Order: sequence, then structure tokens, then C-alpha cells
Amino acid sequence: MSQFDPGAGEDPELALTNSSMTPFDGDAETALRPRSLDEFVGQESVREQLRVVLTAAKARGEAPDHLLFAGPPGLGKTSLAMIVAAEVNGALRLTSGPALVRAGDLASILTNLQPGDVLFIDEIHRMAREAEEMLYLAMEDYRIDVMVGKGPGANSISLDIAPFTLVGATTRAGSLTGPLRDRFGFTATMDFYNDAELTRIVDRAAGILGVPVEASAAVEIAGRSRGTPRVANRLLRRVRDFAEVEGDGIVTAEVADAALAVYEVDALGLDKLDRAVLRALIEIHGGGPVGLGSIAVAVGEERTTLEEVCEPFLVRAGLLARTPRGRVATPAAWDHMGISREAR
Ligand code: ADP
Repeated sequence: MSQFDPGAGEDPELALTNSSMTPFDGDAETALRPRSLDEFVGQESVREQLRVVLTAAKARGEAPDHLLFAGPPGLGKTSLAMIVAAEVNGALRLTSGPALVRAGDLASILTNLQPGDVLFIDEIHRMAREAEEMLYLAMEDYRIDVMVGKGPGANSISLDIAPFTLVGATTRAGSLTGPLRDRFGFTATMDFYNDAELTRIVDRAAGILGVPVEASAAVEIAGRSRGTPRVANRLLRRVRDFAEVEGDGIVTAEVADAALAVYEVDALGLDKLDRAVLRALIEIHGGGPVGLGSIAVAVGEERTTLEEVCEPFLVRAGLLARTPRGRVATPAAWDHMGISREAR
């Protein structure tokens, strides 16, 4: 748990959702975070709705309603939480679902909140049940009940907590319990970004990092970013490395293309793991249908990583379909992997 100070340059990332991210990347990412709703590219309707919620709460002098941001990793949920705190001039307190194992873990955080603070709980769907139940009352009445003592003499006492705003982030909105979901006043489902938005994100990041990127190169990088700003920023940094080592530092479309080939990012933006998933599905399981657990075993990766990181993008790219009987490779996936169905 830490208080986020935008000037401190610390890494506010709680969970590095992509295994290829290094701590250094985390620092660079901090510099690239949008600091205001105006700097936040895309997600127009989420931004507009949020602007109204925040402006109305500020005008009434109240803490804004609790907010839930749902969507795949890297789409800007943490950045939005930071923006919310900045907009309401509240301190941002960061924690995550897996860190809240016992109710006491949450109680100590809640009782230390100051009025107007924004509490960000990443991966909120992974919070322990005990902590979740404590959160219900905190969200509704700014109050918690804590047990004091043990055995027959144990007593429950009620403690007031400061009015605060909870911002929850989840990659699995479906895993949230009904009672928790119902206590959020506003839920935003974040969508993958389109190529034009990602191009703006690459241009913005290039400006901040001082990397000379030609317009066609920005389009090239954006198109291979899996609809995800975090990936766009990471690819830009890797392409910059390549341009500096192999060329004169200027990122042209040719340089971007050569660099992305070295990093094994293909024309659709699929990385090694995405391709391993499709290959397992096609070569081992004849294109499916097959359960995700079997694919996870075949590629040696956690099922949740496939579910939360790979699958949403492969489905969106039209390469993988979820059916009641399991995952199926679409004809486009066979074509993309260069494997002929007839031959098999
Ligand atoms: P999440 O919490 O959903 O995993 P983050 O908020 O950590 O995603 O975003 C990852 C990175 O992507 C941020 O550091 C930021 O630089 C960039 N980013 C995300 N969304 C946007 C956006 N809408 N505009 C510009 N950059 C963005």
C-alpha cells in the first residue's frame, strides 16, 4: 500500500500483467501515464460519463460514487483511477485484491483513509470473502465492524471511516459477486482501442520520450499493439532501442517493421504466446473445440493469463471462438498460422 505521488517517479504498477515487462519498463510507463481526462486518449463515452460524475460530486462537495473499471490488462484502468484522484484532489491509496487476504488487512487500510481519499483496489475480483464483506458496509455507510478479542468474550465494534471513493479494477467483471457489483455507482467497461487512437497514443509517447517517429511508423506500431495502450508504449520503446542500436535513432516504418520482426511480433500484433496458443489449438487439437485448461498445459502458461491476456485479443481479432464445447480456431487462424486444414 502506498500513496501515489506523481512527482516521485516510483512505479505505481501493482501487478505486471505481462511477463515480458521489466521493472525498467514500469518506470518508463509511469512517465507515459495520462494525467488528466483530456490527456486520456479514446474511450470517449467512459471519459464523458466520468467527467459528469466527477464534476457533479465536486460541485456538491462530496466524495464521488464508487467506480468500477472492467476490461483486459493495459487499457488504462489504473491510469483512470489516478486521474480520478487528481480531479478530486484526493490522495490515491493503492492496493490489490490478492493482498487483501484477511478482513484485518482491509480494516487497517480503511481506518487510515482521510476524507476525500481514493482507494484503488486492482484485481478486486480476487479479494478474500471476509474482506469483501467488510467492504460492503464501508462502501455503503462509511463504517466497518471489527471483532475485538477471541472466543466467548469476543465483541464486534463499529468504527466510522472517512468518506472515500473506491475505485475497483477487474479483468473479470463476470467473477465479481452480485452484492459487490451492485455497490458501485458507476461501471465502465473498457474496450480495446482502435488503430487511430493507438496511433495518437504512440505519437504522444514518442513526444514524451523524445523519440523521432515518422507518421507511417507510428501507424505500423499502433497496428501491432493488440488494441492495448500498454503494448503500444512497450513496442515503441523496443523499436526505439532497435533504431538507436541498428540505425540512426530515427524510427521509420522500415525500422519499426525490422524491429518488430526481431521481437517476434507478427503483422497482426500476435506475440510468441498468442501464436503458441493457436499452434497448440490447431496442431495438437485439430482446431478444437478444446478446453482452455488443455491449451494452458500445452503452452506451459497459467490458465488465467490465457483467459485474461491472450484470449480477449484473439477473440477480438477473429482468430479464436469460444463455444459451449470449448475454444475453436477460426479459419482466419489457420490461414494466419499458414496451416492448411485440408492437409491436416
Ligand atoms: P490497466 O490498469 O488497465 O492495466 P494502465 O492504466 O496501467 O492499464 O495503462 C497502461 C499504460 O498504458 C499506462 O502507463 C499508459 O501509459 C498507457 N495508457 C493506457 N490508457 C491510455 C490512454 N487512454 N491514453 C494514453 N495512454 C494510455
